[in-house]
Amino acid sequence: MKEKISLLIRLQYCDNRIREILTKKGEGPLEIKKFEDDLRKVESEIEEERSKFDTLRKERHRIEQEVQELDQKIEKSTIKLSHIKSNKEYTAALKEIDDLKKAKFITEDKIIEVMEKIDGMEQGAAERELRIKELRAEADKNKERILQELAILDRELADLEEKRRLFTKDVEPDILRKYLFLHERKNGLAISSVVTGVCQTCHLEIPPQKFNELIRGNALMTCPHCNRIMYWGDDEDFQKVKSML
Ligand SMILES: [Zn+2]
Repeated sequence: MKEKISLLIRLQYCDNRIREILTKKGEGPLEIKKFEDDLRKVESEIEEERSKFDTLRKERHRIEQEVQELDQKIEKSTIKLSHIKSNKEYTAALKEIDDLKKAKFITEDKIIEVMEKIDGMEQGAAERELRIKELRAEADKNKERILQELAILDRELADLEEKRRLFTKDVEPDILRKYLFLHERKNGLAISSVVTGVCQTCHLEIPPQKFNELIRGNALMTCPHCNRIMYWGDDEDFQKVKSML
């Protein structure tokens, strides 16, 4: 009986590890996707900033043209001034020139404002470019690491599947059927150790008489509470099997 139980312990180990590996294998591509999503987010932020930058540069150009136009108007009005005869017209023309000059000052202030914004953005853009460079390098490094881990998992999985195939060949068909039945219905755990009278999976106590029977180890027994195949966890032979896994 001990040999049969030992085989099931090994089989359960393979199944547990296979399940872990399959979960990890599913996480790898998700992790890669997360890095790529983060990168894309920063890239789109940079793109947005770039378009704001372009708008500001156009704005600067437009205001500069405005100043030029005002200069031309001031020049024209000044020339006109020398041809004016009446005092009233002269005063009006002077006021016009004065207004144009005021408008020019205000517009020049706007240029300074826009240029300050552009300076700030140029600095921010340089920092972002540096950040995206770092993020790209990090994403590449992580992707490579994850792919390497996945390759290692694939090798281990193939190895485990082969071991599992050999173990199932050695288990008696009736016992294997029971194991597979429980494995499917008991959340992947078909076999449980019992230590000091307590099932280590459902954590309930086994009646003392049953526990004594289990220690003797003459029959294949199941936990009266969770129905899993049970074995005495303190048995040295089983501990040896487990330490070799
Ligand atoms: Zn149990």
